[in-house]
Amino acid sequence: MSTRSAGNAAADPGSATASPATASPATANRATASPATSARTLLARKTIGIDPGHDGGNFHDPAFLNKQIWNGREYENCDTTGTQTAAGYTEARFNFNVASYLRGDLVALGAHVVMTRHGNSGVGPCVTTRAEIIDRAHANVAIDIHADGGPPSGRGFTVLEPVADGPNDKVIGASGRFGADVRAAVLKYTGMPESDYYGREGLITRNDLAGLNLTTVPKVLIECGNMPNRIDARLLTSPAFQQRMARALTAAIVAFLTARHAG
Ligand SMILES: [Zn+2]
Repeated sequence: MSTRSAGNAAADPGSATASPATASPATANRATASPATSARTLLARKTIGIDPGHDGGNFHDPAFLNKQIWNGREYENCDTTGTQTAAGYTEARFNFNVASYLRGDLVALGAHVVMTRHGNSGVGPCVTTRAEIIDRAHANVAIDIHADGGPPSGRGFTVLEPVADGPNDKVIGASGRFGADVRAAVLKYTGMPESDYYGREGLITRNDLAGLNLTTVPKVLIECGNMPNRIDARLLTSPAFQQRMARALTAAIVAFLTARHAG
């Protein structure tokens, strides 16, 4: 246990270099009472769900992808390959890289992290299974990480929010608040603009995605940028940008869970 304080942790979570926390109740109490909250315990006792969209092996198993699943409103494919840049850098790889950086940042803040996949060479799981993994973990909040395959002329990120459909009814309001935190943090930290071709001011609601339809925890999906666009592709394939995106998502999660606002 450390008594070292890092009072600016909420404003700059990406600077955290701490190892996983083993917080004692005394530390936690002090953290709650003091503005100089320890970075190592900022997210102690919180569970965060991370779903890196698609998987690197999906390209090789169309039969698996074509399996029909119930997404909460209709039948659809189990998953898709995801998109890629003009040079062939895959969305699955981008999603997994950002997820891995994000996992590291969150663990450094004391969080328990649940991932829906643990590498980028496998197939699946189906989008329904991804939702179940996070629901069963009773995550405090969750993020689906993607990048879009929009028109090559279009740029920017969009945050996709759920629409009430029964299973997700109780988390619609919280997901909207989290979506606002994600939008603000991405604008603040990443240099990626709001989408100029999809959604409005970086936000849109979607009622046709299993990950949002079936969630019982606050969750949004982010399209971090548009892979077919030349400028966005330069950012999306850069490790520095991927780390900034992870830092932004960390800031949004901290803001959402501690009511300290990121933007
Ligand atoms: Zn995707």
